[in-house]
Amino acid sequence: MSRTQPDVAGIKAYDREGITELVAELGLPSFRAKQLEEWIYAKRATSYDDMTNLPKALRERLAEELPLHTATIEKKLVSTDGTRKYVVRYADGALVEAVGIPSKNRLTVCFSTQAGCTMGCAFCATGKGGFLRSLAPGEIVDQVMLIADDFGRRVTNAVAMGQGEPFLNYDATLGALRFLNAPAGANIGARHMTISTCGIIPMIRRLALEPEQFTLAVSLHSAVQRTRDKIMPGVSAYGLDRLRDSLVSYSEATGRRPTFEYALMFGVNDSPEERDALVEYCRKMLCHVNLIPLNKVEGSRFKPSDPSRLQEFCDALNAKGIEATIRNSRGADIQGACGQLLQDYRAAGSEEE
Ligand code: SAH
Ligand code: SF4
Repeated sequence: MSRTQPDVAGIKAYDREGITELVAELGLPSFRAKQLEEWIYAKRATSYDDMTNLPKALRERLAEELPLHTATIEKKLVSTDGTRKYVVRYADGALVEAVGIPSKNRLTVCFSTQAGCTMGCAFCATGKGGFLRSLAPGEIVDQVMLIADDFGRRVTNAVAMGQGEPFLNYDATLGALRFLNAPAGANIGARHMTISTCGIIPMIRRLALEPEQFTLAVSLHSAVQRTRDKIMPGVSAYGLDRLRDSLVSYSEATGRRPTFEYALMFGVNDSPEERDALVEYCRKMLCHVNLIPLNKVEGSRFKPSDPSRLQEFCDALNAKGIEATIRNSRGADIQGACGQLLQDYRAAGSEEE
């Protein structure tokens, strides 16, 4: 199935600039753009009828041409550690997963940017589940707001680490982050929002030019090209050397430090050679390495490495002055941890076959 975002997402297909252009195209005064954005993203209106300061004729026209859909929570699972995983449903029946991870001072939302993923990483549940469609900016924001409501708390951090490859849906992802960043909206600081990519180099270059200080994470998982090609076949066109160059340029341009994600897989990327290659790769560049114990994926042949291996990797990096930490994902008991998000993207009974 392939349908373009505007068809299915209505007004939520538009980013901030898009709303401004739309208002101009409709021949309306420019303040209408601000009103629309406020109604949808700050007051979270669920119908054009709520927008009492817009002329009735305009409300009717918009409702007809660009419906205002609101995503719903189809299912919710609560982990013993307090993490909540949600299945979110859109108007066309597409389903994605999102996760809310609470701590004392924070509420982090891990959101999806696509229903499914085309990259096919061998160790990732999302990669195995196929692909339905990309999400629109407002659809991405909906995940964050549904979770804020469910927790009854402000979301402090948002990470594009759910289903999908954000850099294959660049404009919508950035559009969503800008709505979330807006003071009148969710007001989440740019530095508290992270985009994780499997390494789509042209978009790393693009992000470096954006004015906001969004954080960048790169799923590395091996610094040996032939290993990486095996486990991350979808990104093999973007070689490790060029990836490194693009990240060095990114740091030079922005002064920011990218994070590498490296999930240790027994007998795959956890050998002394792999460790040395990782150290060499990270030397003399600005980066932080997150070493992740591999999360279980149903039916997967990959197994997590021994915890002592993670420590060895961490020590080897630290010994060379490279900042590294071991990050335990939360929510594994509800299949809500990194790489475990898998869903039949088409809702049962959906007409969108
Ligand atoms: N497509 C983007 C965003 C998804 S983020 C990306 O790949 O970066 C999801 C994170 O979880 C990525 O770092 C991914 O590499 C990691 N991941 C995937 N499968 C995993 C697994 N089984 N265990 C631990 N981490 C995993
Ligand atoms: Fe897609 Fe990221 Fe999973 Fe790879 S790791 S399949 S890019 S979601």
